[in-house]
Amino acid sequence: MAVDSIDASLCNGCGICVLSCPADVLRMDKTLKKAVIQYPEDCVVCCWCVAECPKDAISLSPTRHVRVLTSWG
Ligand code: SF4
Ligand code: SF4
Repeated sequence: MAVDSIDASLCNGCGICVLSCPADVLRMDKTLKKAVIQYPEDCVVCCWCVAECPKDAISLSPTRHVRVLTSWG
């Protein structure tokens, strides 16, 4: 499971998801002024971006596998 897609038609470019991601997966595309998934392999599936997005633009994939984060420290 990992962050899978950001619906550009919904994204308003607020940048909240970029700031909320603890794994630095997301970036703002300066040209499009939309959030993009830059480093999907680093996603730890904390779901903060999904929870924080005011437009419900971010989807997680139930099928993709990423390493499991076992400790924050
Ligand atoms: S939080 Fe949602 S609306 Fe805001 S930049 Fe991220 S994907 Fe776009
Ligand atoms: S689920 Fe968590 S780690 Fe993955 S992109 Fe969203 S905020 Fe970042």
